[in-house]
Amino acid sequence: MSVSTKYIFVTGGVTSSLGKGIISASLAKLLQARGYSVTIQKLDPYINVDPGTLNPYEHGECYVTDDGAETDLDLGHYERFLNVPTSQANNVTTGRIYKTVIEKERRGDYLGKTVQVIPHITDEIKHRIRLLGNTGQYQVVITEIGGTVGDIESTPYIEAVRQLKWELSKDVLVIHLTLVPYLSASGELKTKPTQHSVKMMLEYGVQPDVLVCRTEHELSGDLRRKVALFCNVDSSAVIEARDAKSIYQVPLLMQKEKLDLVVLNKLGLAVDKVPDMSRWEKFLDTLYNSKNEIRIGLVGKYIELKDSYKSIAEAFIHAGVSNECKVHIEWIHSEGITDENVKSQLKGLKGILVAPGFGHRGIEGKIAAIKYAREEKVPFFGICLGMQCAVIEFGRNVLGMKDAHSTEMDASTKHPVIDLLEAQKKITNKGGTMRLGAYPCNLAEDSRAFEIYGRHTIYERHRHRYEFNNEYLADYERGGMAATGINPEGGLVEIVEVKDHPWFVGVQFHPEYKSTVDNPHPLFVGFVKACVEAGVKEKV
Ligand code: GLN
Repeated sequence: MSVSTKYIFVTGGVTSSLGKGIISASLAKLLQARGYSVTIQKLDPYINVDPGTLNPYEHGECYVTDDGAETDLDLGHYERFLNVPTSQANNVTTGRIYKTVIEKERRGDYLGKTVQVIPHITDEIKHRIRLLGNTGQYQVVITEIGGTVGDIESTPYIEAVRQLKWELSKDVLVIHLTLVPYLSASGELKTKPTQHSVKMMLEYGVQPDVLVCRTEHELSGDLRRKVALFCNVDSSAVIEARDAKSIYQVPLLMQKEKLDLVVLNKLGLAVDKVPDMSRWEKFLDTLYNSKNEIRIGLVGKYIELKDSYKSIAEAFIHAGVSNECKVHIEWIHSEGITDENVKSQLKGLKGILVAPGFGHRGIEGKIAAIKYAREEKVPFFGICLGMQCAVIEFGRNVLGMKDAHSTEMDASTKHPVIDLLEAQKKITNKGGTMRLGAYPCNLAEDSRAFEIYGRHTIYERHRHRYEFNNEYLADYERGGMAATGINPEGGLVEIVEVKDHPWFVGVQFHPEYKSTVDNPHPLFVGFVKACVEAGVKEKV
C-alpha cells in the first residue's frame, strides 16, 4: 500500500530570527533518525528570483546546491543536519513564483482568464510545495515559510497552507514558532505575544497544531496549559525551545520535548523505531569537551555580518570536532590590513583563511595577509576569491609580475593572471549566470589535495565568473605554485598549492557547502589538522 506524503509547515510569529530553519532541520533530523525519509524546503517571500543577486549584508551567505541553485542559507543548515543534498526545488521565492505565473500568462496558458493572487499565485505555491512530495522520494516534506505571520508579503503563502490543510486534511500539520519573552521587571514569562500571533493565524484560517516557544527560561506546566487553552492546542503540543549553546544541541532539546513524537502521532505515522542519535551525541560531547583550542583568522570584507560566512564557520566546527579541538575564528576585516600592520594583525594565529567575495574593496588586505602566511609558513586556505588572491600574490611577489591582478579588479592589467571565464564573456545578466554548482575536478597524485581526498576525481560546488589564466600556468609551476586540481572538461585550474610550505591550498570551488556533521569536509579537516600541528611545533 502506498502511503501518502505528509506535509509539515513551519511558520513564525511575533518576531523574525527565532530560528525556524534550525527547528525545521532539528525535527527533520529526529524523523530521519527514526528511519523516515525527509526533505526540507524554504519559501522566501521576497521578489528577487533567488538570493544570488543579494549583497551578503542583506541576507547573509548565498548557499549553492549541487544543481547550481543559488539559495537561502537555511538550506545549508538542512544539509548539515540531514547529510542529504538539497536542490533548486528546496528553495522558492515570491519572485520565482511570479516569474513562472507571468511567463505562463504570456504563453497564453491561462486561456483568457484574469490572472490573480488567488488562485493563480497560490496554486503555483501549492504546486512548488507538492513537487517534492510527488517525487516519491520522501515520506515527509517540511516546508519553512520565511518571514513572520502578519507580514503583507507572506499572506499568499499562509493562504496556500490553509488550502492544503483543507485539501489534504490529516496529511498536513502546522507548527508555529513563537517567542515567549521574559520580563525581568516582573520576573515573568509572557504568553500574550504568542496568543496574538495565533489569533493572527486564525484570522487567516489556519489553526496551528503545534506551538514551539522560544524562551530564555523553563516553561512551567501551568504556563503550557495556559498557552494550550488560549491557542486551541494540546498542552503536550506546546514545546519549549530554550536558547542553546550550539545549534547542534537543538535536535536533542527537541527530542527531550518529544517534538518528533507529537508530530508523528498527529500525522498518524508509526513511532515504533527508537531514534538513533548516538553519533550526534558523540559529536556534541567532543564539541563541548575538547581541551585543545586554536585560533584561526578568517580574512574577509563582509565580517560585520558573520552570516555572510555561515558555511565556513560551520565547516570549522565540524573539522574542529574531527580534530578534537575547539576552533576559535578571529574575524579580520581585509580593509584594515596593510603591508605595515599585517604582522601585528595576524600574529599568533595558527592558520589563515581568506574568504570568497566580489569586487575590489579589501583586496589588497587579502593579498597582504596571504603574503604573510606564505612567507611565515602559517597554514593558509584560500576559497574562491581567496584562491584568486593567492595566485595574484604569488605572481607579484614570487614571479616578479608587479602588476599581476584579476581583470575583475583591474581590467587593463599587464598581467591578467585571473581572467573572466570564456563562457562568461557574452553574458550581461547578473542573476543566475555565474559558473554554478557541482563540477568534476581531477587531482594530481603527488599533491596535498590527493592525500587529503584519497581519490582521483572529486565533485565540488562553484560560484564564480573568473578563473586562473592558463597562459601563466607554466610560469607558476616553475616558480613553485602547482595546479593540483583541474576540471577535466575545460582544463580550468580548480586547486593551487605552494609546495615549499607546511599547508598552502587555494580552491576555486566552495568546499564549505558540502561539510556536514556526519561528513566534515576533508579540506577543512586537513587544514585544521595542519593548524593544530603548527601550534604544537611552536610549543616545542
Ligand atoms: N569574484 C570572484 C569571481 O567571480 C570570486 C567569486 C567568489 O569568491 N565566490 O570569480
